Amino acid sequence: MESRKPEEKLSHIEMLDEIQQELVEGLQGGKPKKYGKYSWIIVLLAVLAVMSLELLKRREAMLLLPETPDLQILFLDVGQADAALLMCDGETMLIDGGNVDDGSLICTVLREQKIDSLDYLVCTHAHEDHVGGLGAVLTVCSAERVLCPVREYDSRAFESFADRAGKITVPEPGDTFYLGGAAVQILACDPEAAETNNTSIVLKLSYGMTDFLFTGDAEYEVEQWILDSGYDPSADVLKVGHHGSSTSTSYRFLNAVMPRYGVISVGEDNSYGHPEEVVLARLRDADVTVLRTDQQGNILCRSDGKTVSFPAS
Ligand SMILES: [Zn+2]
Repeated sequence: MESRKPEEKLSHIEMLDEIQQELVEGLQGGKPKKYGKYSWIIVLLAVLAVMSLELLKRREAMLLLPETPDLQILFLDVGQADAALLMCDGETMLIDGGNVDDGSLICTVLREQKIDSLDYLVCTHAHEDHVGGLGAVLTVCSAERVLCPVREYDSRAFESFADRAGKITVPEPGDTFYLGGAAVQILACDPEAAETNNTSIVLKLSYGMTDFLFTGDAEYEVEQWILDSGYDPSADVLKVGHHGSSTSTSYRFLNAVMPRYGVISVGEDNSYGHPEEVVLARLRDADVTVLRTDQQGNILCRSDGKTVSFPAS
């Protein structure tokens, strides 16, 4: 296909500008000129075009799903740490593995779910409360693909993970892959970030018409970077960043995500004071229903591609 010449592009832009001006003048009661009485038809056609595009997008998203679509996300109660097991149409992904002491708990859950091989293992970043239990997990369970922002980090917990992980893939923002019928997109991953929290892999999982955002411990500057990069972080469920610390979940980011639910993985009476009141207030202001592992224990979330639910687990 031949690409358009720059002059042609310019003329289209000029035409759109002209139509817009016509419409504004029309709305203000001025005399329509070039497009005259056709202005409203143009508006109607534009609205219809946008609506059909939206319907097409939804249909496409639903087409990826099997006959009985089922996504389950189990946010594990690993105290002041993070671990979530995702099971989607028979495929599995573990995001983070809690502290070292949580390894046996996660192994038990994997056994209960009859999982001895994960399709994806994601270590959002190298801090112990995320990588800690992964060494133990990899002794009972293999992982097809392992994602992490770094391949080396100076801690025994990380070494235990890296030694057993085999090949570690460092993903790049924009990378996409599938977990069952769910599309997963990497929104951020910066191995060079000065703060380890800000190396966090941020990923969005889209299943039919439902979306889930996992942010690791990414702080404001990563949230801002995602917004500036033009990625769409909107999601029905937000795994609230950095255990509800005030370093994360800025108003601007929250406004772009617009979640209905926020899940906070946090330890009871933890010494960090997480989740911080200022973050809970932001979530309240945005009308987000908050679920917390320190209050509810393991939290199960399900999606059939159309609706998100939190059946009591
Ligand atoms: Zn953490």
